[in-house]
Amino acid sequence: MVTSPAPVHPAATLRGTPVVPGLAHGPVVLVAQEVSADAVEAYGDGGHADAEAALAAYDAAAGAVADGFAAKAARAGGAAAEVLTASAGLTRDKGLRQAVASRVEGGMPLLDAVHEGVAQFVDVFTAMGGLMAERATDLLDIERRLVARLVGAPEPGVELPDVASVLVASDLAPADTAGLDPALVLALVTEKGGATSHTAIIARQLGIPCVVGVAGALMLEPGAMALVDGTAGTVDPSADPAEAQARVEADRAARAALEAWTGPAVTTDGVRVKLLANVADGESARHAAEAPVEGIGLFRTELCFLDRRDEPSVEEQAKIYGEVLEAFRGEGRYVVVRTLDAGSDKPIAFATLDDEENPALGVRGLRVAALHPELLERQLDGIAEAARSTGTQTWVMAPMVATVDEARDFAARVRGRGLKAGVMVEVPSAALLADRMLEVVDFLSIGTNDLTQYAMAADRLAADLAHLTDPWQPAVLQLIATTAAAGRAAGKSVGVCGEAAADPLLAVALIGMGITSLSMASAAVRAVGAQLSAVSMDTCQKAAEAALAAADPMAGRDTVRAVVAG
Ligand code: PEP
Ligand code: MG
Repeated sequence: MVTSPAPVHPAATLRGTPVVPGLAHGPVVLVAQEVSADAVEAYGDGGHADAEAALAAYDAAAGAVADGFAAKAARAGGAAAEVLTASAGLTRDKGLRQAVASRVEGGMPLLDAVHEGVAQFVDVFTAMGGLMAERATDLLDIERRLVARLVGAPEPGVELPDVASVLVASDLAPADTAGLDPALVLALVTEKGGATSHTAIIARQLGIPCVVGVAGALMLEPGAMALVDGTAGTVDPSADPAEAQARVEADRAARAALEAWTGPAVTTDGVRVKLLANVADGESARHAAEAPVEGIGLFRTELCFLDRRDEPSVEEQAKIYGEVLEAFRGEGRYVVVRTLDAGSDKPIAFATLDDEENPALGVRGLRVAALHPELLERQLDGIAEAARSTGTQTWVMAPMVATVDEARDFAARVRGRGLKAGVMVEVPSAALLADRMLEVVDFLSIGTNDLTQYAMAADRLAADLAHLTDPWQPAVLQLIATTAAAGRAAGKSVGVCGEAAADPLLAVALIGMGITSLSMASAAVRAVGAQLSAVSMDTCQKAAEAALAAADPMAGRDTVRAVVAG
């Protein structure tokens, strides 16, 4: 057989953390993220007559930047609009202006004053940790935009390409990613950032294939073609164009077919897998009720109270929880309500300690109830009342449980109200003692986001630690397998409700380990259900063995993909 010579391709495949599945093939556009150095030099000290004139220039620049954010927020929607509106507010923040003003009044040139003023806030936010630390990226983005406005340069960020392209950046700020047109942005690739970064959240919302934490991404040649695989986490600058195009089209067809999947999830040998949804309030619960799910596996109650200064009354709580339960009334359906997971990345004014050195390892989740048992008691009263008034089957679980005593005490309070009691497995100690936990509770639910953070000692929001905060880490999978085995031995439910459940490939391995339910964002349900319905239980078990035996997350994904492909 005669074959034509293989084309010479200069670059090797790059790998990172897959965030949004899907294939895309297109020209690379590198996102410029700095203001032109020449323009900054030409501006110098700005030549302002006095401090008042310098501050007037600052106010004009801040107003223009904030207006830009607000305009983008108006065009965007959902999570994107929220982050953009928050950035607009941060740009107009009086404290930030004061930090700049005091320096300018002390004789500092305006650009230096902006830099130092922002740095002061970045330090404060970073020290707070969690979600507040994430805002540091937003502040640095605001600084670049303020400087651009002051020196008369274009604001840095994404210039929408004329042709559909693969956007490649170091890390993207919300303003860069919000409002992106999926018709022109085929895929997003960043060098930094983890699965919970803003890039990831917004890419998920827009359904744009996305890979983060890709070392060497900025070395890709602008204009050259690249094949991005948001499932495998690869960026291939040397893919054969015809082959790449065929794979992209096959992927598009497969994803269109997924939309038609209506459930239930049943393996090819007839084992039914329970799929559930993660929700934050009544609206998301009603939306979830349209997906092929049997119930809610995680109702994050603290998300109802992020903007509340004071604790809502029992009656008000019952009404809020009742809205969620109402969406899942009926035979065979149920809702797992999680009690307040206040603290760390989700500060709640009425339930979070202010000045902790290390909030992720501090008084968060159920630990708050040790200090304020009345808070938990009133929340359980509200949940019990909502369960009574709706008649929905209601399970209640606690977050951040570390000891069997905590689990026993919590279960007694929940059962005392006639409800089914469980705890989350988010702390490695709970996984290691899963068998003893199951002696005192009715079910376990594994929060893989925190379990990964605590098992790997890596902040789940840290942009540089995405390779560690990956649930495919064999150590994390080992803890999950231990917990699932304890559940099987006790004959009790052990679900997964962290982001890991939304990964179709990992879902296969989790079911093979003996996990009894998977709870995820409702947008992910069809892809997971269709994948599980295409494999046998034997394949699931082989996938579990392969994932557990793998040397690292990349090897795990590769071997499980091979097992699933048969
Ligand atoms: C988890 O930690 O995996 C989890 C589901 O809880 P949250 O993401 O709300 O901390
Ligand atoms: Mg958690």
